[in-house]
Amino acid sequence: MRKGLVLVVSAPSGAGKTTLCRRLLSLDSEISFSVSYTTRSPRPNERNGVDYFFVDKETFKKMINEGAFLEWAEVHGNFYGTSLEQVKEAISSGKDVLLDIDVQGAFQVREKLGREAVLVFILPPSFEELEKRLKKRGTEDPKELELRLSVAKEEIAKAQAFDYLIVNDVLEEALDRLYSILKAERQRTFRRSDLIMRFF
Ligand code: 5GP
Repeated sequence: MRKGLVLVVSAPSGAGKTTLCRRLLSLDSEISFSVSYTTRSPRPNERNGVDYFFVDKETFKKMINEGAFLEWAEVHGNFYGTSLEQVKEAISSGKDVLLDIDVQGAFQVREKLGREAVLVFILPPSFEELEKRLKKRGTEDPKELELRLSVAKEEIAKAQAFDYLIVNDVLEEALDRLYSILKAERQRTFRRSDLIMRFF
């Protein structure tokens, strides 16, 4: 059996990452979504245990102290964290796991997992387009929107350190590139020594 890989997808808020991740998950049954914990309030249509596990700050802090997170970070004033247990369970059963997390979290995962993790950064076609998409989404008030845009610039400046870059201009094309990366990474020799061992 091959060992599962950890696919980390980061992007500035509004780059279309959530849609891309959902589409990838629906294309392939060998990859599952890591449902993060967050202290942010649920948006309309978000479901507890599906989009996030919504918890209060106290619970989140307790989980940090218990070592429950593979990584965690404060993003736009809220806490977000990846469950270590969920990731461990997926990869040890030969499944890949997708982490939709921010740049700070992506770097913590790289630090902890090295090349077991694959880091993909999704870029919007332009800064203007990012602003347009965020406004259209309408889930943030103007002050929050400003904050997200300035954080976006800082994040894009760190994209250099990722393994792959994808511009999300045409969704289908971006999805195709993301899926190609996943398929190629699955065949990396260090993940597939099982294929060679069968001959001996
Ligand atoms: P949103 O509030 O829009 O759902 O997410 C805000 C940002 O937090 C996004 O960039 C998202 O990828 C990131 N995020 C979601 N879950 C996690 C997590 O578990 N860890 C980290 N570091 N970031 C996360």
